[in-house]
Amino acid sequence: MEYAFSCRGCQKPDKNFWYDDEGKIVSDDDFPFNTPTVEFHEWARADAYGIFTGLYCDKCYDDSNIYTYRKDEYHDEGYAGEQLYPDE
Ligand SMILES: [Zn+2]
Repeated sequence: MEYAFSCRGCQKPDKNFWYDDEGKIVSDDDFPFNTPTVEFHEWARADAYGIFTGLYCDKCYDDSNIYTYRKDEYHDEGYAGEQLYPDE
C-alpha cells in the first residue's frame, strides 16, 4: 500500500488516501475535496504570504523545531498584511 499523502516532518502517512493499481488516489471516505491534490489536503500548510509550504500533521505543525513557517514567526505583520490590504 502506497499512501498518497504523508507528513513532511515525521513522514507519518495519512492512511485515508492511497494509490490504487492505476496510480489514482482513492479513499474509503468521500473526498473532502473534488480533486485530491496536495494543496487541498487537510495537512497542507502555507506561510504568512500564502505560499504552500508542504504537508505537516498537527503535531509537527505545532512543533516550531519542525515547522518553521508559522505565521506568528513573522514579527512584522504590518508588512505581511500590506499585500493583502493595500492602502488606497
Ligand atoms: Zn508529522
